Amino acid sequence: MYTPEKEKELIEKTKELLKLSIDDIKDKRQAEEIVKQLREVIRYHDWRYYVLASPVISDYEYDKLFHLLKEIEKKWPELITPDSPTQRVASGLTKEFPEVKHLAPMLSLDNSYDEEDLRDFDRRVKELTGLSEIEYAVEPKFDGAGIALVYENNRFIRGATRGDGIVGEDITQNLKTIKTIPLYADFKKYGIKLIEIRGEVLMRKDVFKKLNEERLEEGLPPFANPRNAAAGSLRLQDPKEVAKRKLEAFVYQITYATDEKGENLLGTKIRYHYDAIKMLYSLGFRTPIPEKEIKVFKGIDKVIEYCKEWEKKRDEYPYELDGMVIKVNDISLYPKLGMTSHHPRWAIAFKFKPRQATTRIIDVVFQVGRTGAVTPVAKVEPVEIGGVIVSSVSLINEDFIKEKDIRIGDLVLIERAGDVIPYIVKVIKEARTGKEKPIVFPKNCPSCGSPLVKLPGEAVWRCMNANCPAQVVERITYFASKDAMDIRGLGYNTVKKFYELGFLRRIPDIYRLPYEKIKQLPGWGEKSVENLKKAIEESKNRPIHRLITGLSIRYVGKVTAKKLAEYIKCVEDLKDWTVEQLQSIPDIGYVVAHSIYDFFHNEENIKMIYELKELGVKTCKDEEEEKREKILEGKTFVFTGTLSCCSREKAQELVESLGGKVSSSVSKKTTYLVVGENPGSKLEKAKKLGVKILSEEEFLNLLEENKK
Ligand SMILES: [Zn+2]
Repeated sequence: MYTPEKEKELIEKTKELLKLSIDDIKDKRQAEEIVKQLREVIRYHDWRYYVLASPVISDYEYDKLFHLLKEIEKKWPELITPDSPTQRVASGLTKEFPEVKHLAPMLSLDNSYDEEDLRDFDRRVKELTGLSEIEYAVEPKFDGAGIALVYENNRFIRGATRGDGIVGEDITQNLKTIKTIPLYADFKKYGIKLIEIRGEVLMRKDVFKKLNEERLEEGLPPFANPRNAAAGSLRLQDPKEVAKRKLEAFVYQITYATDEKGENLLGTKIRYHYDAIKMLYSLGFRTPIPEKEIKVFKGIDKVIEYCKEWEKKRDEYPYELDGMVIKVNDISLYPKLGMTSHHPRWAIAFKFKPRQATTRIIDVVFQVGRTGAVTPVAKVEPVEIGGVIVSSVSLINEDFIKEKDIRIGDLVLIERAGDVIPYIVKVIKEARTGKEKPIVFPKNCPSCGSPLVKLPGEAVWRCMNANCPAQVVERITYFASKDAMDIRGLGYNTVKKFYELGFLRRIPDIYRLPYEKIKQLPGWGEKSVENLKKAIEESKNRPIHRLITGLSIRYVGKVTAKKLAEYIKCVEDLKDWTVEQLQSIPDIGYVVAHSIYDFFHNEENIKMIYELKELGVKTCKDEEEEKREKILEGKTFVFTGTLSCCSREKAQELVESLGGKVSSSVSKKTTYLVVGENPGSKLEKAKKLGVKILSEEEFLNLLEENKK
């Protein structure tokens, strides 16, 4: 489709366009020309991304191009054409997913909030069935996005969102990226030909937390909770992006099952709900784990006890739960129990205490972060949410405040999901009295007074003064944090105190703290000073990627720092790297490369690194570190099938940590194909090309040998 010459030309053009901002465009004639170029390069990058699955620019850069095109089209709407890449996304969001009718309606459950509700439910079930004691299956209620999966002749043929319960959206391709949804399951063993299973797509709490941190770093609004994040991810247009979100699917109900003759099996061959879950579990689905998570009880008393037990431990569970589900275990009773206009009468949800609360905004303060970003934080009337007292809530950025129209004095609905930072879901505008005051974003830094700057394409205001006290304290704190140099005992409050006392003004000061003076401070003694000193001494010998992380270079977090460290001997070497050289490192795009380049071309920063070196901080890899890293250099691995040792990501990490590369497809350049269980077509291709094939065991041995 594109000749190599054309590709070269388009990549050159991309680089030029990335330097542009909307302010550089003077008139319509120029806009027209730029729009043409932008559309051409965006189409090219779409092709690289979607068709070849081999993009040549980072997602960030792509978004930047796309954003610029949108901005120009906003300013000169007459330049919009129906085939502009901007039009596809804007209008296609829901149309992209065709509608499908579920085999059985996806009903919602009636909710109960206390013991009494559950006893009422039990009484009703007994009345309707005429039984004196009922057996219930009780399981955790996952708080995610509802899905329905259809399997026919053992194959996963369709997956849909819940939609309105009757009709949902076909998101099969996206669901196929979720590893906990088996593409093949032996239902025939149980005489099942066609089956529909209900479940929930979830995002683990820690994955959610990380996703939100990344979004904030990119200036995007965070998701309120893992449920929204999962639902949003499922509806992404690109299955590859979905895969990156690390979603998981739990299934918990068979809603439809027929045999070869089309006979219904629910209530007959599939008689008990608990057994149905056990079957799904044995077929490789992630269900509530039999005996551990889903249990069967006779009588409502034990059910209530079990629900309360889970409410206590919901925070320790890696996924967000919003309650428990109680189902009559004997499916053959369901027709007799029937349903109300909305809910089945054979099941009920027991809801845990909500994670939301309303409170009032008293004031807004502005905090300066380590890269100078100014974050508005609302001080609210203290309120308890899920056992924690919340008294301040981040307002993220100016756009967020504008979008939600948040004012001082407003009554707001706050959500706090798990250990995630509290988040304003909405303003209760009905409660306004007219006395609410708009939030005025400061023009100057609240810490040092220098004027705040908003860079093109960014959502945050920044203080650009590198010596700003608030920034310095944050940067030193980050340098000492667990993610970076891991100096225990040097947290925010201590850094702030030492800064105020003049002990700590720059990062290198950490390594020349006046311990004799510190000993005299209230709260400090011989022992605590000794501990601090020891922690600081130990930090001198950390791997160099930790030092790079600790420097607070914009866009360079833990992952990028590790990547960078693979390519250098000493941190100070980076002062000789050009932007182009930096960009040649995988996953480092134009913007990140520029940021690194700028950092290492600032005299102050270079001085600081040499100062640290002189103070005894390791800035160069030692021989052992280097040898270990490079042992697989020049070797390319491809994986096929399922590994039993570890996930694909983990295996990739192992290879990369030893200097090797992992590729997704087999070519002549492939050194090894590692074959797990149920290998795909890559195996044939590798055989044809004569690529060396390793079993999982051989692969692990190879890594083991190289470690010695
Ligand atoms: Zn400042």
